[in-house]
Amino acid sequence: MKRIWLLVAIWTMSLGPVAAAQNYGSARPEWTTAIEPFRITDNIYYVGSKDLAAYLIVTSAGDILINSNLVSSPPQILASIRKLGMKPSDVKILLISHAHFDHDAGSAELKRAAGAKYMVMDADVAVVESGGGKDFAYPGDRYPAAKVDRVLHDGDEVNLGGVVLTAHKTAGHTRGCTTWTLKSPVNGTPRDVVIAGSWNVNDGFRLVDRPGKRASYPGIAQGYEHTFAVLRALKCDVFLGAHGSYFNMLEKLDKAKAGAGEAAWIDPDGYKAAVEERQRAFETEWKRQRDAAGATGSSH
Ligand SMILES: [Zn+2]
Repeated sequence: MKRIWLLVAIWTMSLGPVAAAQNYGSARPEWTTAIEPFRITDNIYYVGSKDLAAYLIVTSAGDILINSNLVSSPPQILASIRKLGMKPSDVKILLISHAHFDHDAGSAELKRAAGAKYMVMDADVAVVESGGGKDFAYPGDRYPAAKVDRVLHDGDEVNLGGVVLTAHKTAGHTRGCTTWTLKSPVNGTPRDVVIAGSWNVNDGFRLVDRPGKRASYPGIAQGYEHTFAVLRALKCDVFLGAHGSYFNMLEKLDKAKAGAGEAAWIDPDGYKAAVEERQRAFETEWKRQRDAAGATGSSH
């Protein structure tokens, strides 16, 4: 009996690295825990879960939804939209932060439920249209494929009812990772909003070519370098992101409820500090991988 368990243990351990390279992991509790939807600015509402962010931007010509989250998330997102007194059928445009299953797996269902047009950054289109199958890191994380109605390119604008969102390609984390910016009024005063796509180098991402092991995709490290240059140059008053944890959402929500209101979300210093901290983390990891690759590897 003991020997069988030992064999099972060895077999499981041998699967470990393979599993890590194929799957991002199952949903974490804070990704699926619902929270009350709330208003962030005069026209941006939070309709995500405790950590997986989804934003509803309300305009005079209908609404824009950013992120469809997990395959199980659409009922939660739709319930949050209804709780705010909005109609899912008013969602005209669906956008994402990037093509990973925790931000885009619900897209096919939300497109169907709302009848929204799906607009995705060029380099993430193949991933969303293959239901995750063409992802460079997690081709095993499959979800319903969703047809893209408009292919976006770096710097493109998405317009609805006078609200203009700009799509900044901030690649690295995925090839088409997108940071969204827009002007949105906070208590009537126009403010610069940044919704960071992602800046993380996940476990298993290869930033350099090594003999017999190419980088995760050609130019990934340069993608991150460009991303941090772009993020540093953005003007940010209201700091948001694909995960609540990027911008201390729960802490700020407590402050908003305790009386600060919409002003709780204005955090230019927090944005700058987060970008700098994530850039240092990327540079440290890049150096570590270059050093490990040694003289035989190449960084460019
Ligand atoms: Zn991701």
